Amino acid sequence: MTLFDLKTRVALITGGNGGIGFGMAKGLAAAGASVVIAGRNRTKNERAISELRSLGAQAEHVDLDVVAEGSCHRAVHYAAERFGRLDILVNNAGTTVRKQPEDLTAQEWRLVMETNLTSAFFCSQAAYPHMVRAGGGKIINTGSMMSVFASSYAAPYAASKGAIVQLAKSLAVAWAKDNIQVNAILPGWIDTELTRKAREQVHGLNERVLARTPAQRWGAPDDFAGVAIFLASPASNFITGATIAVDGGYSAQA
Ligand code: NDP
Repeated sequence: MTLFDLKTRVALITGGNGGIGFGMAKGLAAAGASVVIAGRNRTKNERAISELRSLGAQAEHVDLDVVAEGSCHRAVHYAAERFGRLDILVNNAGTTVRKQPEDLTAQEWRLVMETNLTSAFFCSQAAYPHMVRAGGGKIINTGSMMSVFASSYAAPYAASKGAIVQLAKSLAVAWAKDNIQVNAILPGWIDTELTRKAREQVHGLNERVLARTPAQRWGAPDDFAGVAIFLASPASNFITGATIAVDGGYSAQA
């Protein structure tokens, strides 16, 4: 196997039916992995796998609502059964509720924490025995600039994204003995459905992002293909518990 070859590998991507998750799915597929797209919206799931198949990839989809522990377990087991193994898990599903902290309901707090953080724990726990059986594995958690910085309208989002990095480090430490590497990526501001809503709801956001990002543009889902291949491949076998910003220099800017 060469450094970036994923031909014998099987990947499951939560929230892989669009945006950043689909960008990672395309990267993994291009490197030869068989890909299982997991999301709630079946139309989006089907569209995603037909695009992957048109690129020559082996791809399937599975219904997943990450806030339900049973659904996480079922999706992981489906992927492992369908392709006979599971090597790569991308914990990418995410959501937010944009409100000042004093206005948030308990239900909104729980929705964001469970979608962004608890789901990553459930899916990783479900994937663990399959990865042990495969002789190792790769887990990629999707953090955010809000893993590091804060925002008045994103208390649960920032809390969940800070914690998902600590979850990656904890799993990395626990499962290094099993040859499982667990890392986190920190996307900058990326043009997806999630941020299209933010641009409508947060006045001046577009201008602030462009002014602060040294690359002078929003990121695109395709910017995540390379980092996904790297963190899923033998090229990163001695990298675990790390975070990689994919942000056009946003977090390097003073
Ligand atoms: P999208 O809205 O395009 O993607 C979000 C994905 O999460 C969708 O595929 C959606 O699937 C899935 N999802 C949400 N809730 C659930 C659920 N309960 N069960 C299963 N799937 C769910 O946005 P992005 O691509 O931007 O977001 C992907 C990740 O990247 C998120 O974790 C987000 O926090 C993170 N991120 C994004 C940034 C950005 O600038 N865009 C910046 C930093 C981090 P479905 O449609 O089927 O519900």
